[in-house]
Amino acid sequence: VITRFIDPDSVELAAAPGPLFARHDLLLVDLDGVVVLGDQVIPGSAAALTTARSAGTKVVFVTNNASRPPLVVAEQLAGFGVDARPDEVMTSAVAAATVIAGRVPSGAPVLVIGGAGLREALFAAGLRPVTEAAADPVAVVQGFAPEVDWSMLAEGTVAIRAGIPWISTNSDPTLPSPRGPLPGNGALVAAVAAATGATPEVIGKPGPVLYDAARRAHGGDRPLAVGDRLDTDIAGAIAAGLPSLLVLSGVSSPLDLLAAPASARPSYLGRDLGAITMAHPSARVSDGVGRCGGFEASFDGARAVVRVSGDGQPGQDDLDGLRALAVLAWCQSAGGAFARDSYEDALKGLNLNF
Ligand SMILES: [Mg+2]
Repeated sequence: VITRFIDPDSVELAAAPGPLFARHDLLLVDLDGVVVLGDQVIPGSAAALTTARSAGTKVVFVTNNASRPPLVVAEQLAGFGVDARPDEVMTSAVAAATVIAGRVPSGAPVLVIGGAGLREALFAAGLRPVTEAAADPVAVVQGFAPEVDWSMLAEGTVAIRAGIPWISTNSDPTLPSPRGPLPGNGALVAAVAAATGATPEVIGKPGPVLYDAARRAHGGDRPLAVGDRLDTDIAGAIAAGLPSLLVLSGVSSPLDLLAAPASARPSYLGRDLGAITMAHPSARVSDGVGRCGGFEASFDGARAVVRVSGDGQPGQDDLDGLRALAVLAWCQSAGGAFARDSYEDALKGLNLNF
């Protein structure tokens, strides 16, 4: 049984009096935008993870990316100075194979639309990856790999049309690249959906299955999800009933945070993964004023304003100002649309140093 921990309707940021990792025995950490950015490690992330681990908090890397096997991911992380065993990497391919293995006989043939990450995950789960619909597969599993081509999509289409289950590792429509977004698994799944009229069962974030699989594999009574995307990492954490930390070192921006719907609001906010080693102040709204640390956010007519109050120190950690503004925006947009124009001046006035 998987315990759900959070109130999904909260409009507050939670407090952590000491280092955030000390409140948790399992960190479920996204990779891209959190630990690495493309082929670079994000400064401070390796040290933060080492600090948490040496205090006894387990770390599991949880990624929607199905293309690379855990061993390859672990080796890349080691090259960046981040310790990781292959069993500490939970990819959407591994979770998909685990889910399928729980439903079909050992050794059953499963048709793969994908690459080595998916094939190895199926082998490791005691299943037999096949490439042709004529091999009588019991399920189709689809995950991104650069070598996915028309013939794989065609074999999958034939097999799905025969009525067997279709499982997709994730729905990310695009992959980031130096040339901008490129077609991701969601785009390739859409091709098969168009050809079959079928809809896959999706394993990865923003659904709960990937986080649930990581928790089942690693235990932990007090898990924390960490990610850089509100629409996948944080929404997935809420779907899985987990508290979450949003870091601003990847995709989601401060403005995205203010605009986040109730289904995608984090419990904690940090600049980067170093935030797991820090204490966190609470942020909440009372009498129309969002308060965090020495900052107050409120409305002056139609515009939000942020003031430094009490013992607040301007320019030192304006992240508290962003926290106060976020909870104000979440309260204000309850039951209505987010009014972006109302917050832009206040955001520009914060000294966020991004
Ligand atoms: Mg990410």
